[in-house]
Amino acid sequence: MIYDFLIIGGGIAGASAAYELSSHGSVLLLEAEDTTGYHATGRSAALFTRNYGGETVRQINAISADFFRSPPPGFCEAPLLTKRGCLTVAQSGDEGELDALLAMSSLGEEVVHVDTKEACEMVPFLRPERVMRAVYEANVSDIDVATLHSSYLKGAKARGAVVMVKQCVTTMGRMGANWHVQTAKSSFSAAKVINAAGAWADQIGTLAGTQTIGLVPKKRTAIIISAPENTNCAVLPAVDFAGSDAYLKPDAGLLMASPGDATPTNPHDVWPDDMDIAVLADWIERETTIKVTKIEHSWAGLRSFVDDEAPVVGFDAQVPDFFWLAGQGGYGIMMAPILAQLTADLCTGNHGTHVDQLAQLLSPSRVQ
Ligand SMILES: Cc1cc2nc3c(=O)[nH]c(=O)nc-3n(C[C@H](O)[C@H](O)[C@H](O)COP(=O)(O)OP(=O)(O)OC[C@H]3O[C@@H](n4cnc5c(N)ncnc54)[C@H](O)[C@@H]3O)c2cc1C
Repeated sequence: MIYDFLIIGGGIAGASAAYELSSHGSVLLLEAEDTTGYHATGRSAALFTRNYGGETVRQINAISADFFRSPPPGFCEAPLLTKRGCLTVAQSGDEGELDALLAMSSLGEEVVHVDTKEACEMVPFLRPERVMRAVYEANVSDIDVATLHSSYLKGAKARGAVVMVKQCVTTMGRMGANWHVQTAKSSFSAAKVINAAGAWADQIGTLAGTQTIGLVPKKRTAIIISAPENTNCAVLPAVDFAGSDAYLKPDAGLLMASPGDATPTNPHDVWPDDMDIAVLADWIERETTIKVTKIEHSWAGLRSFVDDEAPVVGFDAQVPDFFWLAGQGGYGIMMAPILAQLTADLCTGNHGTHVDQLAQLLSPSRVQ
C-alpha cells in the first residue's frame, strides 16, 4: 500500500498531525519507542501560557487557545485546560524584568500588579523579604497533556490512521514519485513524509538527503517534591522567579520545580543530573520556606530549538514531498493544534487563514 502521509514520530506533533491529515487521506505514523509520547511530550510542565516565548510563538498560542477551550465535538470527554494562574515574583534588582510581562497585558489576558502581601497570601511559602515586585496572570492554565495526546491518536485511528510503535526509521529514499521508508522490521511507501521526530528531526532530514535546520536539543530538568503542610495545591498558582529561569507549579497535589535549565546536547533519552537536582533543592530552600526533605520523582526532557526559536513547519525547499514539523522548543504542547492544522493545510494545498498568517514565518527555508 502507498500511504498518502507517513509521519515519523509519535509525540504531540506527530499525533496532532495524524489527526488533522487523516481527514484528507491515508496516514501511517511510525514511532521508534515502545509507546508514543515517551520523549518531550511525556515530560513537559503541561502549561498553557499565552505570554511566553517570542512574538511568533505568542501569535500561534493566541490562535491555539480556541482549540483548547472548545475542542471539536467528540474530541475528548474531559476539559483540556484547567485554570492555574501564574505569579511572577522579582527580588531586589530584578524588578524591571516584570515590565515586559506587564506590557503583554491585553483585554481578557490581563497581567496585573499584586503587592507583596497579596503575593505571599497566594503562595504562602514565598519569603516576603525576597518579593520586591510581583505580577499575576490569571489566564495561565494546566493542559491535560495525556488527554490531548491520546485524543489526537484516538481520533486519527477512528478516521483510519495506522499507528505503529517500535518502528525506528533507519533509511529512506525516493522511489519514483514516492518515498520508501525503512525500519529494522519493515518497509513502507508513502507520497509524503512528515518529519515530526522531535529532537531527532535533523537526523531524519539527513536521512532524507536534505540540509539540516540547525536544531539544538536543550536539556531541561524537573523534580517533584511535597508541598508544605496545609498548602492547598488546588488554588496555588504556578510561580516564576524573575532574574532566574526557575519555576514551581502544583502537580497532582505535589509541587513540580525546574531550574529552567537549557543545556545544549545531542538527541538522546535524557536523564537528570544529580548535581542539577541538588543545586535546585538548595535554591528552593533559599528562595522559599519549603524544606526539601525528599525528591519524590525527577526527570529531564529535551526542548529543541532552531536559531530564531520559532517552529519549523513546511515543505523542504530541496527535497520533494518532505515536510518539516519540528523545532517546537518549550511550547510544543500549546502550539500543537495550530501547527497540525497548518500542516494539513499545506499538505493538501488548502489556503486557509493559518497559511496566510504563518506559512512564511515558519518556513524551513529560513533556517536551511
Ligand atoms: C521539562 C519540559 C517542560 C516543558 N513544558 C512545556 C509546557 O509547559 N508547555 C508546552 O507547550 N510545552 C512544554 N514543553 C515542550 C514540549 O514538551 C515539546 O515542545 C513537545 O513535546 C515536542 O513534541 P514533539 O512531538 O515534537 O517531540 P517528542 O515528544 O520528543 O516526539 C518525537 C518522537 O519522535 C520519535 N522518533 C525520533 N526519531 C525517530 C525515528 N527515526 N523513527 C521513528 N520515530 C522517531 C521519538 O521517539 C519521539 O517519540 C516542555 C518540555 C520539557 C522537556
